[in-house]
Amino acid sequence: MMHRFSGGVHPPETKDETFALPIEDFPPPEVLVVPLAQHIGAPAAPGVCAGDEVLKGTVLGEPAGFVSAAIHSPVSGRVAAVEEHLGPLGRKTLSVILENDGREAWADGCNVERDISGLDAGAVRDIVRNGGLVGMGGATFPTHVKLSPPENKPIDTLIVNGAECEPYLTADHRLMLEEAEKIVLGADLARRAAGAAKIVFALEANKPDAFEALQKASADLADAEVVMFATRYPQGAEKQLIQAVTGRQVPSGGLPMDAGVLVQNVATCAAVYDACRFGRPLIERITTVTGPCTVSPANFRVRVGTLYAELLWKVGITGTPRRLIMGGPMMGIAQRSADIPVTKGTSGLVVLDEVPSEDFGACIRCGKCVRACPVSLVPSQLGVLLEAGRLDDAVLMDLADCIECGCCTYVCPSKRPIVNWIKFGKAQIAERRTRERKAEK
Ligand code: SF4
Ligand code: SF4
Repeated sequence: MMHRFSGGVHPPETKDETFALPIEDFPPPEVLVVPLAQHIGAPAAPGVCAGDEVLKGTVLGEPAGFVSAAIHSPVSGRVAAVEEHLGPLGRKTLSVILENDGREAWADGCNVERDISGLDAGAVRDIVRNGGLVGMGGATFPTHVKLSPPENKPIDTLIVNGAECEPYLTADHRLMLEEAEKIVLGADLARRAAGAAKIVFALEANKPDAFEALQKASADLADAEVVMFATRYPQGAEKQLIQAVTGRQVPSGGLPMDAGVLVQNVATCAAVYDACRFGRPLIERITTVTGPCTVSPANFRVRVGTLYAELLWKVGITGTPRRLIMGGPMMGIAQRSADIPVTKGTSGLVVLDEVPSEDFGACIRCGKCVRACPVSLVPSQLGVLLEAGRLDDAVLMDLADCIECGCCTYVCPSKRPIVNWIKFGKAQIAERRTRERKAEK
């Protein structure tokens, strides 16, 4: 029996422009900017210097700790510099600047077909770690960490997330249609690594063709099913998906493994297959480039390190672009410049002609945000507290449980920027903790 999560909203899907467009290979550019921090956790430690020759798959950065990920060269060529460059989070981050020699020559051991039938759990985890895989739905959590649950937290179910509930984005949809088999085989490997018994492929009802493709591709896979849910944002958020598929709730402050579940995005599963079967590290991804200010929107297979400007040039810009978002418009991040590279987590670039109004009113206590909140918080109250700078009181109101979905702001008739206040409040808390830790040392 399928369950549903509470709350949520139904924003216009606006996927018509790209859902029927096949994935197009984006030509690797002449110069790439590859950040060493493309994941949650410690940035990779630089492993190359200016002047070094590299091949496709050469390690540019080694993981600096367990919760970290390796970074590989997306092209063959030369390292022009290792220097700070603006990244998608609005900060300068250490990056490897590459000059592409156009040879597309792979490093030793990469892009070589292998037999995967005998790979045990440890071997899959090692390949995934060495391949620099991270969650490609946008969260960018290192995949090998998720595939290594502690012994006291056994995983019984792997949920493969194909919800893609953000408006505009169709990268996962196209991948499910065009490479369903790869997703299924990768999911089977991920299941092996995590020791899970069952696989559930979970989609929204607005992708019946992808549902069929996955059903067909997984017909011979034991203990696997494909399920479809009503289209409702944020269906693809981890905790909401777990609740919808299993009826289990991840405890406050907990992780999916606390509910015996592992969630992997469809693109991550395809990347697991590529890494295990062909020794291909994560150096490219599918990205939707769209929005009302684009002339020819597209779903591109694009190398990590390609600057937004190259993609925007290719699709063409029209009208009055006023906002560039990395990811979807609900949870994505507004970008300050087009001189920022695609990373492992870039699910889309959306060019909009509107900016959110900075005018907002007082809370009229209509309760709409409370009904929309998928984690049963009281966003109106959080908003009032954070607007007044009462951070500690907001913490007591479970600020940390907010998944930053933006549903509260979306439904608010007074246009109160609650989710922005929440993000700012969380950032202040993180800064305070860092200061406290330093002071203790
Ligand atoms: S942004 Fe946070 S508070 Fe607002 S609806 Fe989403 S989870 Fe609830
Ligand atoms: S939706 Fe806006 S106006 Fe209504 S209760 Fe929430 S914060 Fe207040």
